[in-house]
Amino acid sequence: MSALYGTYARSELAFVRGEGMRLFTEDGTRYLDFSSGIAVNALGHGDPHVVNALKEQADKLWHVSNIFQIPEQERLAQRLVDATFADAVFFTNSGAEALECAIKTARRYFWDKGEKDRVDIIGFTGSFHGRTIATIAAAGNPSYTEGFGPMPGFKHTQPGDLDAVAALIDDKTAAILIEPVQGEGGVTAFSDAYLRGLRALCDKHGLLLIFDEVQCGMGRTGRLFAHEFSGVKPDIMTIAKAIGGGFPLGACLATAEVAKCMVPGTHGSTYGGNPLACTVGNAVLDRILSPGFIEHVEEMGKVLAWKLQQLTQKYPDLVTEVRGKGLLAGVKITPPVRDFVVRLRDHKLLTVAASDNVLRLLPPLIVTEAEIDEAITIITDALAEYQAETSSAAQ
Ligand SMILES: *Cc1c(COP(=O)(O)O)cnc(C)c1O
Repeated sequence: MSALYGTYARSELAFVRGEGMRLFTEDGTRYLDFSSGIAVNALGHGDPHVVNALKEQADKLWHVSNIFQIPEQERLAQRLVDATFADAVFFTNSGAEALECAIKTARRYFWDKGEKDRVDIIGFTGSFHGRTIATIAAAGNPSYTEGFGPMPGFKHTQPGDLDAVAALIDDKTAAILIEPVQGEGGVTAFSDAYLRGLRALCDKHGLLLIFDEVQCGMGRTGRLFAHEFSGVKPDIMTIAKAIGGGFPLGACLATAEVAKCMVPGTHGSTYGGNPLACTVGNAVLDRILSPGFIEHVEEMGKVLAWKLQQLTQKYPDLVTEVRGKGLLAGVKITPPVRDFVVRLRDHKLLTVAASDNVLRLLPPLIVTEAEIDEAITIITDALAEYQAETSSAAQ
């Protein structure tokens, strides 16, 4: 028996090396990575600029406490502020911790204004915000909250319907929390009009708008942040996953007006934003902000969507819908998705399952058209194989 908690349904595979779009097992078998460690390895594996930055920093200084100045952290914060709506940043080690900071900030903002009962946050069905108590409560997905006790402070409704959100707002509501493109929940991109409608509701009722861009942010959709398509600005935003390129790093960003309630003593993290993590974050940002990088993502996103769309025509019974934005792509299929992910793995393509029987494709953002073609060929072969098996089983 393994000495680990049994929380993951792990594959037998173990990778020992990564290079760009590829992962290798001990015996040298090569896999095409269209999962990026779940939207983390945005630059693929072993990006030389990031590897060098980490090695150089490792020789200098790994960690000091946040009771000292950390220039690398200051610099990364300033660069994120310069690139976004935000004025201030709190660094964490993960997405869930970034959300914890966002939730605390929203509640504390109203407490600071004397509105001590304004603590509730409105969230949406199909969302995912992490696995801490507050973040499973925020998402409200029963398969994640079951058995973990009461989950006060959050209300939920189906996304897409502004009237349903408006109906939930009362004098205890503090904020609305949404992923502009839902990842785990089935790869659903919300319309610009819907996000604008949420902003308008927040403005009307004096609520804060929180965008969770842990998965859809950092260039993945073809914009630095997915909400940029809509022109809507949030008050608070959470990021993680790709910002560290594989090094644990996350952040909560907020406007000055909102962040000013988080005074000394209100929040903290031992590791959050340490020199090693922020050096890596800065190196990742160098690459993502380099000229043409995000334009490449947008272009590859269009190529991928077009080729996936062709699969819906070729296999209308098996592939029913293409979803998502940029290189956060979802394919709704009729074969059970978890088995299909295993089948693709047998064909040496790594993908991820999402809810609603959606196959999630999250290639590193450096993917080329040739690698998209390679993935599409593998998916086509796997669909043909599935079809042949099910039709012969039916005879
Ligand atoms: C992955 C994810 C999180 C949680 O991040 P962790 O680093 O696993 O804590 C939160 N929100 C979204 C949208 C995510 O995709």
